[in-house]
Amino acid sequence: MINEVLKSKNLCMGCHACINVCPRSCISMKADKEGFLYPTVDYSLCIKCNKCVTVCPIINKIEMDNNPVAYSCINNDNTIRLDSSSGGIFTLIAEKVIDSGGVVFGARFNDEFEVEHSFVETKERLCKLRGSKYVQSKIGDSYKRVKEFLNSGREVLFIGTPCQIAGLLSYLGQSYRNLLTVDIICHGVPSPYVWSKYVEFRETEAGAPVQRISFRRKDEGWKKYSVSFLFKNNKEYRQNLSKDIYMKAFLQDISLRLSCYDCRFKGMSRQSDITLGDFWGIQYVLPEMDDDMGTSLIFINSDTGQELFEEIKYKMSYLKVDIAEAVKFNLAAIESSKYNPKRDGFMAEKDVLPFDKLVSKYCTDSLFTRMKIKVKSDIKIVLTKTKMIDIVKSIIDK
Ligand SMILES: Cc1cc2nc3c(=O)[nH]c(=O)nc-3n(C[C@H](O)[C@H](O)[C@H](O)COP(=O)(O)OP(=O)(O)OC[C@H]3O[C@@H](n4cnc5c(N)ncnc54)[C@H](O)[C@@H]3O)c2cc1C
Repeated sequence: MINEVLKSKNLCMGCHACINVCPRSCISMKADKEGFLYPTVDYSLCIKCNKCVTVCPIINKIEMDNNPVAYSCINNDNTIRLDSSSGGIFTLIAEKVIDSGGVVFGARFNDEFEVEHSFVETKERLCKLRGSKYVQSKIGDSYKRVKEFLNSGREVLFIGTPCQIAGLLSYLGQSYRNLLTVDIICHGVPSPYVWSKYVEFRETEAGAPVQRISFRRKDEGWKKYSVSFLFKNNKEYRQNLSKDIYMKAFLQDISLRLSCYDCRFKGMSRQSDITLGDFWGIQYVLPEMDDDMGTSLIFINSDTGQELFEEIKYKMSYLKVDIAEAVKFNLAAIESSKYNPKRDGFMAEKDVLPFDKLVSKYCTDSLFTRMKIKVKSDIKIVLTKTKMIDIVKSIIDK
């Protein structure tokens, strides 16, 4: 069945379509040693109906041939924008769906600060879904719930990674006029287990359980965002993306799911109605839309997406952009992350070393960052040209 077909771990992206479709509920998702979920079949219950194989969006990939239009967008509500990862467009779309009596599915933290898909039905609860969580989200039985809402005539918005959208559409197996799908430009998803180790590390350091986490605080600006933890003893941890050790591991592609290094859902022809991302490089492409509070890059991939955009555009500042120009600064839209050769060592030692030692052993700073650190520690030295050359040489030699 499904695990026989997907023998290679590099293929299964953990979309959960197979467990949602199984009529005997004999498939469950089990975490491997790295903490990623993979389907496991209980053969004593399996009736060999093959539905798990036919639903798999990797085995039966739908080839798309659409022609997306790209926009640079900013939600006019600055409070929402500051609370969002990019330009706050997710909230605008979600509010429209809720205003029409609809339901919104997205990723939230549960009480243990694990990331999972869930739904909300009121604008007040949208804050649970708002904001990027850089961990693979567990889909659970969300696709089944989506189908129930669709069949009851409710409008449904489902947002997730491109592979989760593929899983949902494959599971539904037919188009629904009351469904709107939004995917994100996705760098890749880190291991939930590595995430739990990091939360544990921060809690131990703070001496209290965590009560709130944000991956994208914009206190120092959107481009230099920070990760923040608020603990139950009111201590706060906040660190810039280049210094936070979890983000360092994520951005150096060492903690991603194996399938993310060969993602089958990259490119400009997407299955979703709308794609959301950060408009990195906005300062070069459209400087007038860069106030460092967050600008979204959005692709409109279908007529449904275009209709929705027309209905909400009066609540945003936007400009049409050349898609090729925009993507130049956001290669995650079209290319998989590169496999980090130190990944095996990192995963093997994740239970042996404390989190900070693990990251400092396996995630080296870039030459530029090492130069900055070295320069800071040598701050009392007058940097002559010769000294600068010595510093660069010593870093290269390390
Ligand atoms: C793992 C991950 C990697 C990303 N990589 C890139 C990238 O390389 N380049 C880029 O331009 N953008 C990337 N993004 C998207 C970006 O961070 C923003 O989520 C997006 O621009 C939407 O921002 P917003 O301000 O409109 O909405 P926000 O309010 O910030 O909404 C974020 C939305 O994403 C959903 N979401 C959050 N975490 C997850 C998750 N783990 N899995 C599935 N859905 C989730 C939430 O439910 C919410 O609806 C990534 C997001 C994630 C979660």
